[in-house]
Amino acid sequence: MRATGVRMSYGDVQVLNGVDFTVSAGEVSCVIGPSGSGKSTFLRCVNGLEPVLGGSLRVLGEEVGHTLRDGRYHPWTPKEFAAFRRNIGMVFQRFNLFAHQSALENVACGPVHVLGSPADEARGLAMEHLERVGLAGHAHKRPHQLSGGQQQRVAIARALAMNPALMLFDEPTSALDPELVDEVLEVMKGLAADGMTMVVVTHEIAFAREVGDWLTFFDDGVAVERGRPGELLAAPGQERTRAFLSSVL
Ligand code: ADP
Ligand code: MG
Repeated sequence: MRATGVRMSYGDVQVLNGVDFTVSAGEVSCVIGPSGSGKSTFLRCVNGLEPVLGGSLRVLGEEVGHTLRDGRYHPWTPKEFAAFRRNIGMVFQRFNLFAHQSALENVACGPVHVLGSPADEARGLAMEHLERVGLAGHAHKRPHQLSGGQQQRVAIARALAMNPALMLFDEPTSALDPELVDEVLEVMKGLAADGMTMVVVTHEIAFAREVGDWLTFFDDGVAVERGRPGELLAAPGQERTRAFLSSVL
């Protein structure tokens, strides 16, 4: 994925002011930055939930909009994005599982309803994904019978069931009780080790340091700086990054 000068606004409020951002296949790119800096909006642009208004955005090798002769960038319409979005998994802070379905049904439902997989096959694969996130023994449970950490792992399994080429995580552990954070981070580490391409917005600096190939600092709608996590954390080049890090470390 490569964003160049990506702009986006809500009405008159400019939220992304020219974001440059790259993640290559098989890499984990972590994003940190203060609340309101545009991190979530950027992820939402990447999977087409918000329209990019300027710049250029290539996702999985495809430009997800067109610059017309008037010089303006016309993002793909929701319809144009719909099929493409299957290639992108997204995990939110809130897990958004279907409350009336079991863990297994939550994971199998995308393949059945969106990809048209036969139900038996989808359930078999869903079980494999639940095993991958350590929840094979909980397949029959509904979300309310699971802890927050387990629910988030189901949400990850659900995203994986669509066989995505890119996974986006928006503060996946921020809503969890502290003792449940690690089990989710461990699953994400496993994905990274398996070579999944991932963009991870997180406050978990230790995770970014250990797992991230790259770390990007967002502030005020721009990617202020990017570097190897160890280097950026030890010696930020920008004053804004330094100020943010000293407030969270
Ligand atoms: P972050 O994820 O870094 O906290 P966001 O991308 O959520 O930042 O928000 C960036 C800015 O956009 C904030 O000022 C926020 O108030 C604003 N914003 C986010 N979502 C909306 C929306 N749906 N309508 C209007 N403004 C929004
Ligand atoms: Mg956010």
